[in-house]
Amino acid sequence: MEPTKSEYINVKNSKIHNKGIFAAKDIPKGAKIIEYVGEKITKKESEKRCDIVLEQSQKNPELGAVYIFELNKRYDIDGNVSYNTAKYINHSCEPNCEAEIEDNHIWIKSLRDINQGEELGYNYGYCVDDYKNHPCRCGSSRCVGYIVDEDEWPKLKKELEKK
Ligand SMILES: [Zn+2]
Repeated sequence: MEPTKSEYINVKNSKIHNKGIFAAKDIPKGAKIIEYVGEKITKKESEKRCDIVLEQSQKNPELGAVYIFELNKRYDIDGNVSYNTAKYINHSCEPNCEAEIEDNHIWIKSLRDINQGEELGYNYGYCVDDYKNHPCRCGSSRCVGYIVDEDEWPKLKKELEKK
């Protein structure tokens, strides 16, 4: 399959993590930038794959990226496929994009107006339990140091204070 394309984006090397996605032109707030595509899998298969990634990430955090998205109650999308351009969008603690599900499709949408040349990012929404395996290098002034869902930042802060 051909990699997905969008008029809004360029794939380039990123300071944050290998590749990144950058705005090819000004993007208005609320735009559907690109669809997050992949293999549709059952929840059971999804659990299996998450366990494998977790094991790998304990050995080598660089391999610990999770590309699985919840689609609905029955299915998830595993975006770790060559044709999913959206997988190159990096995590950010101060994101300018978000993932939104619409009619069983996952869209990366802009949270605000984005200028041409800006790197796109969204919060990967990882659970706090596994935070040590997912250090964050997003460089934002709001960066909490780990890739964790914003709803779980209070928990993360408590964990970090324990040390
Ligand atoms: Zn960060």
